[in-house]
Amino acid sequence: MKAIRKVAARPNGLEWAEIPVPPCGPDEVLVKVRAASLCGTDGHIYNWDGTLPEMILAATDGLRRPLTIGHEFCGEVVEVGRRVKGAGEKAAEPIRAGDFVSAESHIVCGTCYQCRNGQFHVCTRETIIGVHRDGGFAEYIAIPASCAWINDPAVVPVEVACVEEPFGNAVHAATEYSPEGRCVVIFGAGPIGLFSVIVAGAQGAARIIVVDAAEFRLRLASRVGAHTTIRTDPAPDGTPQAHARERERVVGLIRDAASPWEADLVMEMSGHPDAIDTALAAVRRGGKVILFGLPKRSSITVERYAEDVIFGGVTLKGIIGRKIYGTWKTTRELTARPEVRTKIRDIITHTFPLARYQEAFQKMIGRESGKVVLRVAED
Ligand SMILES: [Zn+2]
Ligand SMILES: [Zn+2]
Repeated sequence: MKAIRKVAARPNGLEWAEIPVPPCGPDEVLVKVRAASLCGTDGHIYNWDGTLPEMILAATDGLRRPLTIGHEFCGEVVEVGRRVKGAGEKAAEPIRAGDFVSAESHIVCGTCYQCRNGQFHVCTRETIIGVHRDGGFAEYIAIPASCAWINDPAVVPVEVACVEEPFGNAVHAATEYSPEGRCVVIFGAGPIGLFSVIVAGAQGAARIIVVDAAEFRLRLASRVGAHTTIRTDPAPDGTPQAHARERERVVGLIRDAASPWEADLVMEMSGHPDAIDTALAAVRRGGKVILFGLPKRSSITVERYAEDVIFGGVTLKGIIGRKIYGTWKTTRELTARPEVRTKIRDIITHTFPLARYQEAFQKMIGRESGKVVLRVAED
């Protein structure tokens, strides 16, 4: 079969490889991949930056074992391992050949303190598909049956199913605190920020304000339900004063756009250090801030910690992954709504056949894109 593999520890370093179809282990299902989508994580694997190289080198014996990448995908089950009882939570859903599945990319241990307390999304021994083991940018992938999520093919089309995993990040982030009747401000209109606009709208947010530096992405945000978009200058002339002025300008615009509400729920999905400060300055006193965007460096400085966080009485909540499987159930409810599916499709701006993965990566990294999808097998 064809697969896209990371073979060399350098930027790009990917290979269009011909490899055997993986065997289906006793607790696994073998999936014939229909479509897959590119994630920021894949971008870091491609660019070979951030924390990913270290994780991959450790998992692959320094890439002596090449790694098939990709962790957002959907496809058809073609083989079921002999010990498999079912899919999803507690193997409750029977799974058979022919089922149309997407996948939770985090494989959790089930026995650590977090898992025993139902917090699977923060399992301390998790491994990730396409990072620690072979992923879905390939014609076939074997995954633990516990990671398979069965879709109704009559309801969820292939291109929606293949982005359910990243959409689930937005579901987790935008439903941690109910957006219903609230003014929601989203910093960062990358795919997860844009999905968050859809989720917040579907959950009844009274007003949605989106802040980003890229006009292309702000237009997408308006298209899927943002009431106001604010374009920010990501690099004002460099002096601390210029950064402070830009923060104040954006906060002022948010205040005007929010009125008569105030910024109840602020979601930081960009990871830009200025955006984190601006998010903390924009949230109303007593409001809530969801922190999802990863900064380039793991440490950041919060400019006005005392004023904006402590005196503001603000709630901060970090979000990672999806709740397993609470978020997936909400995703199922949301994707059952035609208008939600239409908006998800609006976010998918580019689709390439698997063989043209290099172009797909260029498109994603270039930022003039929403979600980029790879078609692996046609109908
Ligand atoms: Zn991802
Ligand atoms: Zn665990």
